[in-house]
Amino acid sequence: MTSLSNRIALVTGASRGIGRAVALELARRGAHVIALARTQGALEELDDEIRKLGGEATLVPCDLADHEAIDRLGAAIHERWGRLDILVGNAGLLGVLSPLGHIDPKEWDKVMSVNVTANWRLIRSLDPLLQRSDAGRVVFMSSGASTRAEPRAYWGLYATTKAALDMIARSYAAETKNITNIRVSMFNPGPLRTAMRAKAMPGEDPMTLKTPEDAAPAIAALCAPDWNETGKLYDFPQGKLLSFRDPA
Ligand code: NAP
Repeated sequence: MTSLSNRIALVTGASRGIGRAVALELARRGAHVIALARTQGALEELDDEIRKLGGEATLVPCDLADHEAIDRLGAAIHERWGRLDILVGNAGLLGVLSPLGHIDPKEWDKVMSVNVTANWRLIRSLDPLLQRSDAGRVVFMSSGASTRAEPRAYWGLYATTKAALDMIARSYAAETKNITNIRVSMFNPGPLRTAMRAKAMPGEDPMTLKTPEDAAPAIAALCAPDWNETGKLYDFPQGKLLSFRDPA
């Protein structure tokens, strides 16, 4: 298990599901976790668990749809630590599963705001701090929805946001490659036993799925200073790194 001792790590969507498991895994490896989500009570429970592991966390109750709060977060991290070593951009919304023509514009804007724009705003706010790390590591949570050859009907909103997020991650990787110590990864969890998956697939038996705790070590590996790939997608179901290709 790679040590992340003294690394400063921001995890968005840390109140439950994949983000919570990642926050615990990073803390277990010695990172100081800055845990962000809207639900303060769940963040406090996470804090208790991190303390039990002998770790430390800073809680950030925040709605990522409030983009100016993301700028304030960057300023606060700068003030306290002067750098950021790890960003896990995990928070996301499923949004409504519906024909594109039936989606309420407010719903469209809300999901785009959290899944896409907030992640760009995180880069905008935190890039100078990641540059000040000796090994800035960034992981964004992708999805099979954005990469599958046959898009699923009615998943258009969610899939569009994940495709946009992939391109934000790949563009950031291209911008930082060779000239900085930053490495950017995308992670496809595949189906994991979380609230989002249960909402998407209500008929599925959750006990047939892998858990966020199963996936967390693979995500933590992408956060380690010795991880040197950038602009690639780690596919958890296949357990391997994938490169993007030009269309045939
Ligand atoms: P989840 O159980 O629904 O958790 C989502 C997390 O995001 C929660 O901590 C939630 O916290 C946070 N969040 C949502 N909206 C937010 C906002 N406006 N501001 C701040 N935080 C917000 O989902 P999950 O299954 O763990 O998914 C995590 C990521 O993996 C997502 O990006 C998802 O698209 C991706 N993914 C999941 C699966 C899967 O099978 N589970 C598959 C592929 C991709 P609060 O509600 O407390 O704010």
